Amino acid sequence: MSGPAAQQRFDLPDIDAFTAPYWQAAAEGRLLVRRCRAEGCGAVHHYPREFCPHCWSADVDWEEADGRATLYTWSVVHRNDLPPFAARVPYAAAVVELAEGPRMMTEVTDCPPEALRTGMALRVAFRPVDAALTAPTAPTAPGDGDAKGAKGAKGMEGMEGGEGARPLLVPVFRPAGE
Ligand SMILES: [Zn+2]
Repeated sequence: MSGPAAQQRFDLPDIDAFTAPYWQAAAEGRLLVRRCRAEGCGAVHHYPREFCPHCWSADVDWEEADGRATLYTWSVVHRNDLPPFAARVPYAAAVVELAEGPRMMTEVTDCPPEALRTGMALRVAFRPVDAALTAPTAPTAPGDGDAKGAKGAKGMEGMEGGEGARPLLVPVFRPAGE
């Protein structure tokens, strides 16, 4: 571990004002999806977008996902030279189908590669990215309507980093009920 690559890592989410509520919720162990409120649509999508990818309405809101999913497809990665993945191989990069319908790129953990099966029941879990990294504490640019999803979240108002900061967690999936 030396040279410029040692300072760089490729597993960090790109967090902005729009996605901050998603990462705040993840830090509390909740997976958010986006649901369209347009009449006649109601579609849920993931990854989060500001417009509904089904009808292009901007009337889209955060909603807590059930957390259940089934395994759609996966690839067991044995080699990845990008830090920090080299230290993590082998791992199961996967696409899961959320109970709400959308598919999500993620990782399946706590399951031997040979036990992975299409359609197997999974449940969301949350993994720290790095002990030193914390989740965003409050919406940085409210006013686009997306920050309202975070208002009801407990403990948001007093969080300014420091003592109130929660570790940055990323959603992964593990076998359900085992
Ligand atoms: Zn829609």
